[in-house]
Amino acid sequence: MKILVLNCGSSSIKFQLIETDSELIESDTDRCIAKGGVERIGTDEATLKVTVPPAPSVSTTEEILDHQTALTRAIATLKEHHAVADISQIQAVGHRVLHGGERFTAPVIIDEDVEQGIQQCVELGPLHNPHNLRGYYVARKVMPQVPQVAVFDTAFHQTMPPHAYIYGLPYSYYRRYHIRRYGFHGTSHRYVAYRYRRIFGKAREEANLITVHLGNGCSMAAIDKGNCIDTSMGLTPQEGLLMGTRCGDIDSAALLYIMSKDELNLHDMSILINKFSGLYGISGESNDMRELEDAAAKGDAQAKLAIDVFCYRVKKYIGSYSAALGHVDGIVFTGGIGENSPPVRAQVCAGLSEMGIQVDPARNAAVVGKESEISTKDSRVRVMVIPTNEELLIARDTFRVVRGLPNPH
Ligand code: AMP
Repeated sequence: MKILVLNCGSSSIKFQLIETDSELIESDTDRCIAKGGVERIGTDEATLKVTVPPAPSVSTTEEILDHQTALTRAIATLKEHHAVADISQIQAVGHRVLHGGERFTAPVIIDEDVEQGIQQCVELGPLHNPHNLRGYYVARKVMPQVPQVAVFDTAFHQTMPPHAYIYGLPYSYYRRYHIRRYGFHGTSHRYVAYRYRRIFGKAREEANLITVHLGNGCSMAAIDKGNCIDTSMGLTPQEGLLMGTRCGDIDSAALLYIMSKDELNLHDMSILINKFSGLYGISGESNDMRELEDAAAKGDAQAKLAIDVFCYRVKKYIGSYSAALGHVDGIVFTGGIGENSPPVRAQVCAGLSEMGIQVDPARNAAVVGKESEISTKDSRVRVMVIPTNEELLIARDTFRVVRGLPNPH
């Protein structure tokens, strides 16, 4: 089955066309036929980029004023480059949806009721859910006969117990406004946990894992026999690890203090903690780990401090999730930094041998952007690098939901 996976933002659409079915999933040979994106929608300088492997990417700049035109153009380009003979070959669409609240614990076919449910989660995910919904409306117009499935970033974390998701606020805020920890990057954590078990031939019950997604956004999950029991992001993607431009965990009173000192309003403060903090805020120069690693190597103390804070926080979470799980079989690094930065992985895992975590320096140094073990032969906990593939999992989920098959991950 050819499935179009869509991730729709305010002025962008990212897409992948993936061929999958039961046999391909079983043999792990389902594949991406084409991928691309449209950026700067709403302008006369929108860029449309499509890659149909093995051909090189093609890119055009043109006027694209709305998302419907963007999707129509993207599909026409897929046809031009022979990824599909005709639009009718696309048999389902899988939408990445940020926030599913407490209602959505698994992928679902979008009907009127589900659409309303996603709408109700807009308050919880105001920056993403409206655009994710827009992706649905547009795809429904362009492909009215095709089933559309929502796959939620929060769903995997819905197995967290109340003691992990309730904040220490008056409980009435949970009752009235659903203020609690939800967690994000769920599809990524679920995918790499699945891959780990697949690589080692383990059943869900046989692997307790800590998954570490380090990209521009960063989060971790504690996975007990396949079920998420804790994750580092909270009500919003702001909580937890230090990120590219987000501060992560912070004394909430520090924010009140800054607001009062500098007379900042809510909007200013939101920009400060989301766009000007994290690696960027501490280093004062970049949110890109590559640039910071280069700068630190040349003696830039602020860049080094940013990396130190970043790694220390991941290490602390490994400690707390080890305690939460009681027993850890494996740690998985993923995301742009987790997959590509041996120095960050080495720094995070340094000094954890008492906890059974030993990274092999040579193995670690050799692993950039590929699936491989980086722990020593004697390490009690296996440390892995597994490139994430959220789109593949969204395509598989979409296929299973459309066919009414159980979801085993
Ligand atoms: P993502 O959000 O998963 O695409 O990750 C993006 C981030 O990965 C970038 O901002 C970089 O900081 C980081 N990254 C990508 N390649 C490397 C690399 N070779 N070394 C260190 N960090 C990298």
